Amino acid sequence: MSSEGTSTPPYVPPDHARFWLGTLTESADAGFVGADLRGIIITWNPGAERIFGYAPAEILGRPIGVLIPSDKQAEEAASLARIGAGETLRLETERLCKGGRRTPVSLTMAPVLNERGHAIGISVIARDMQRTFLINAENLRREAVLRSILDTVHEALIIIGDDGLIRSFSGTAERLFGYPSEEVIGHDVSVLVSEPHRERQVAYIARYLQTGERHIASIARVVAGQRKDGSTFPMELSVGEIALPGVRQFTVFIRDLSESQDRERRLAELRSELVHVSRLNDLGQMVSTLAHEVAQPLTSLANYLNGSRRLLTAGKAEAAEQALERAAEQASRATRIVQSLRDFVRRGETEKRSEDLRKTIEEASALAMLGIAHKLTLELRVSPDARQAVIDKVQIQQVLFNLIRNAAEAMTGDGMVSITVMRVGEMAEISVADTGPGLGEEVGARLFQPFVTSKPNGMGVGLSVCRTIVEAHGGQIWADPAPLQGALFKFTVPLPAGDSAKTD
Ligand code: ADP
Repeated sequence: MSSEGTSTPPYVPPDHARFWLGTLTESADAGFVGADLRGIIITWNPGAERIFGYAPAEILGRPIGVLIPSDKQAEEAASLARIGAGETLRLETERLCKGGRRTPVSLTMAPVLNERGHAIGISVIARDMQRTFLINAENLRREAVLRSILDTVHEALIIIGDDGLIRSFSGTAERLFGYPSEEVIGHDVSVLVSEPHRERQVAYIARYLQTGERHIASIARVVAGQRKDGSTFPMELSVGEIALPGVRQFTVFIRDLSESQDRERRLAELRSELVHVSRLNDLGQMVSTLAHEVAQPLTSLANYLNGSRRLLTAGKAEAAEQALERAAEQASRATRIVQSLRDFVRRGETEKRSEDLRKTIEEASALAMLGIAHKLTLELRVSPDARQAVIDKVQIQQVLFNLIRNAAEAMTGDGMVSITVMRVGEMAEISVADTGPGLGEEVGARLFQPFVTSKPNGMGVGLSVCRTIVEAHGGQIWADPAPLQGALFKFTVPLPAGDSAKTD
């Protein structure tokens, strides 16, 4: 509430102007109320009726006190005394409407003087503050809502002027950058950007200001942000303009990308963990087969060694030498199996390099074919223009292992697995076809989803892991929907960069 006093007496209009003044008071929005020195209301315009609700007939002749709430009576008495002494007062206060409702008003109260300068009454101009109050309250409410949103949303918001100085700094921005708002407000926005990006960042905003190209701003940019402690983090900016008459300000929403990058890294870790676990699982299921496969050459080795000892004792040196050669072959065979198992289960960083596809496929099929009881023929054709691919060898061998193993398991009798490698655009396409019964209806479209299996002891993760691996290589894997016979799986892996079609 404010009150302000001036000592200038109001202007008393000459007669010819009274008519005009009367018209004005009739049409004014404000309430014009006149009272004599006793406080009896003697004029009341339509504006006053609108604000206070009394028709002239209801209020004229009544004391002005009916408009004053009981707790404002003392204030009113003091005001009247000052007006009586010739002052004009302006104050914001409350008045009573018809029916007892209080309403906020802004009042200008002045003495009415006669020709000799003596006070003969008071004039009151009342403005309805209800609307202003409502607007202010609404603005305050909106501001509180906005503030609470800005303090909770993940994005930090800063507002900068067209001079690049920070005008506003949200709670999230304070937490993100580690500055309390009072430390950065008024400073250049570049304090929040790490060195290598500073210039570009400033140029970017300057360009926006010069050209007003909205689309420049709407493109989110990723730059390195800098916290108060000097540490940096990746942040994504989206800039918008606040268009107010005569004011140009920019809202900058900032998203901290370090968290989402952490999430991506974690996902990649989990994916490689899954790939590894599934490899262990494949081998776990094959363990008795593998034990048998390793035991076989070891048994032969022992037999050959015993044989050569007997031959040596019998003085048959030449025959003994041949038996020892066989023994050495069996020892290498066992070593090869153990070696390939060790490679297959090794964990470690996925590393992609240019690998020979024929060798990769041959090693994987040797492992996959171990322990298959029925007679299986394996056919491999590699097109000369797709000999190499950029792959993580162990992982792609895992894909091949799964596909070949599935093919072998699907065929109960004799059959054939044909593997073909050919170039399709920039990719090597590897297809694995079998002569088995083909894909069952029950697996259908969900083939590459985890836990889809038709096998009593199947885990149903093999193909979903294949997909994870192939997609991590930038390739695709699918089952040909209508093969001539059996099942036909295809997948692609990238050829070495700049590898032009070689046809040697
Ligand atoms: P799992 O081998 O543990 O069942 P996969 O994801 O490797 O898991 O395979 C899912 C299912 O897809 C298999 O259970 C089988 O029904 C079907 N499938 C995969 N490969 C073949 C194939 N070559 N011939 C017939 N069915 C196949």
